[in-house]
Amino acid sequence: MPVIDLHTHSHCSDGALSPADLVRQAARAGVRVLALTDHDSVDGVEEAAAEAAVQGMQLLPGLELSTVWKGISVHIVGLGVDIEDPGLREGLERQANARGERAHMIGERLGKARLPGAYEGALELAGNEPNRISRTHFAQWLLAGGHVGSMQGAFDKYLGNGRPADVPMPWVELPDALALIRGAGGTGVLAHPGRYPLTRTKLRSLIAAFIEAGGEAMEVATATEKPDMVRYLGQLAVQMGLDASQGSDFHGPHMPWIHLGRFAPLPAGCRPVWRRWISSEDEPGQRALI
Ligand code: AMP
Ligand code: MN
Ligand code: MN
Ligand code: MN
Repeated sequence: MPVIDLHTHSHCSDGALSPADLVRQAARAGVRVLALTDHDSVDGVEEAAAEAAVQGMQLLPGLELSTVWKGISVHIVGLGVDIEDPGLREGLERQANARGERAHMIGERLGKARLPGAYEGALELAGNEPNRISRTHFAQWLLAGGHVGSMQGAFDKYLGNGRPADVPMPWVELPDALALIRGAGGTGVLAHPGRYPLTRTKLRSLIAAFIEAGGEAMEVATATEKPDMVRYLGQLAVQMGLDASQGSDFHGPHMPWIHLGRFAPLPAGCRPVWRRWISSEDEPGQRALI
């Protein structure tokens, strides 16, 4: 069984590694099929694809869109997208501009909380690309300056829901996000459904809305999900008629508890989303793989 990891980040969003380094590290970890899914960006896909060819790996072009559903932030992974699609490009430009503006606002809020220089610090950590600045970069800056004791602490104290530097975002609405992914020939995957602040009943409503908008799969196995949750999400995918996906959500060696290609197997009965691109376990197909 080839190792398949369909959720990873590079420094084109809030990951630590370049796309090429990510692919090399994935190859060393035994990953045979990799999706690069940077937040609101496909900038790293070409570099990753070139290195994947060198490594003899399959690279599935992807992204992770930040969206809003009923006021909460929901992530949608798009797999197998055409990265040249004009509609997708335009949508991503809007998301990037919004991200850049939010970074200034977060910096101002932290300034008011007597933490000057946060914007400049986050900008540097984002490789001096203003429109790539993520809350992760602010969290890294807060941690490096000793203002918090952990990344989690940075979200709990400053950046998380309802905290002083929480800036509500005009992210794309869930149905529009799925339209962008489908318009670019991709498959919409509900990312880490166990991580939203939702009751099980509300999670079902979210999944129903996701399906209604054209979503076709949900993540069942990720590196941080407990076995009970993986089992539950597997059942949910089967009941709701969605394909199942898996991925590490790897961001880099600074989160050493997450390893490329390492997560629980999909529970029995789940229909793997990768059957769309891989014709058999041993024979990766070519459609949408570059
Ligand atoms: P953004 O897209 O800028 O809103 O940032 C969201 C990113 O922050 C997520 O993709 C995670 O990588 C990271 N993140 C969110 N919550 C936490 C947390 N509690 N601890 C560490 N990282 C987090
Ligand atoms: Mn992230
Ligand atoms: Mn996410
Ligand atoms: Mn992610």
